[in-house]
Amino acid sequence: MKHKIVSDAIKERIQLYEGIFDVVRIVDPIKKTIISCKEHDEIPDNATCYSLWLNNEMCENCITIKALKEKSTFTKIQHNGDKLFLMVAAPIEINGEIFALELLKDITNNMVFETVTQGEGHEVRNLTQDLNEILVKDALTDLYNRRYIDQMLPIEISKSIENKYPISVAMIDIDNFKGINDTYGHDFGDKVLKKFTQTLKKYIRDDVDWIARYGGDEFLVFLNNVDNKKAYKILERMRKAIEKIIMRIKGEKVQVTGSFGVYTNRDTEITASDLIKCADNNLYEAKNLGRNKVVF
Ligand code: GH3
Ligand code: MG
Repeated sequence: MKHKIVSDAIKERIQLYEGIFDVVRIVDPIKKTIISCKEHDEIPDNATCYSLWLNNEMCENCITIKALKEKSTFTKIQHNGDKLFLMVAAPIEINGEIFALELLKDITNNMVFETVTQGEGHEVRNLTQDLNEILVKDALTDLYNRRYIDQMLPIEISKSIENKYPISVAMIDIDNFKGINDTYGHDFGDKVLKKFTQTLKKYIRDDVDWIARYGGDEFLVFLNNVDNKKAYKILERMRKAIEKIIMRIKGEKVQVTGSFGVYTNRDTEITASDLIKCADNNLYEAKNLGRNKVVF
């Protein structure tokens, strides 16, 4: 009954938040139970605020308690599985009683950390830079990740069209990598992935070109202001350097090769996914031609 009275009293006041946040809820500050929530008209009596995070106990860094104690608004970024949430907690008075208002937004794919260079926020600059890096980097290879490709490739395409220069995108895939994993184990496979990507990195220009892990054993190389002929030359150099890699395990020598497909765009309005598809078609052809090839 208390739930209903509180919900009805608050409905109008929190309507605005409901259009902005994914979860808008009122939490009982003592019991940590949910009194009102945008998603649910009927809330089970035992539903707690922390069950959303798949926790059996209260969060260690509970900002709701902080918000109530200090009578102020607090925010935090919290993981939930592979998702990131921005959470805001604030005290709110309903019918003379104090409750906690919690606002949650899934920011997995739409967060940007503004870099602060001066003023009071100066100390957090390094922290936000680190966080930015984590968001767009692949942990194993230290290359950029798929999120970076999704953010940057459309920008690179429009810059190149506006300024009338060519861009080349290569899709690269390790040859017979499954066999390497199956024969020598996943840890050795990881070492091959690292060596492979470190080798690719040597052939691109810092701050101009970039490499990202597209997924599994597939990588995307972006070459800025590079035409098709020049791209082929760069990729041939990469291919030859990869071919020379000999990895050792238990006295055995393992050779590694990769297949390369590259596509160059100049002047044509093309979406990032179509550009990748064109490069991927050439990669597919390189595989069909027997692997360890560059197709452009
Ligand atoms: P192909 O020449 O046709 O590319 O053959 P392939 O064996 O490389 O085939 P495919 O590209 O489909 O296989 C990719 C394999 O990469 C399968 C998967 O187990 C492995 N893999 C993906 N991510 C990782 C990883 O992070 N570490 C390791 N060790 N292996 C991975
Ligand atoms: Mg492969």
